[in-house]
Amino acid sequence: MAEGWVDERDKAILDTIYYCESCNMVLEPGDTDIERHRKDLPNHKLRKVLIVRCGHCGNIVTDSYAQYSSQLNSFWCKNCLSDKTNHREFYGDPGR
Ligand SMILES: [Zn+2]
Ligand SMILES: [Zn+2]
Repeated sequence: MAEGWVDERDKAILDTIYYCESCNMVLEPGDTDIERHRKDLPNHKLRKVLIVRCGHCGNIVTDSYAQYSSQLNSFWCKNCLSDKTNHREFYGDPGR
């Protein structure tokens, strides 16, 4: 695998937000709720959510709805990957 792909992957990430599974709400960076969670609510389950752009259709999706390919250096959304042809292109031909 190519070196420094983490950096390349970071470039494909548009934004990072947090999701609290305990409150069931989205916390955006700079939000006072994040600070409150760090200080007062350590039991809450904060999850990092990456906002990415699908390299195929251009839709903005969260990382849980997308897959990353270091080969293509982009995220593709599950909608695109549900298509067989796209799927093969994304993951590469296993026969090679
Ligand atoms: Zn919370
Ligand atoms: Zn897509």
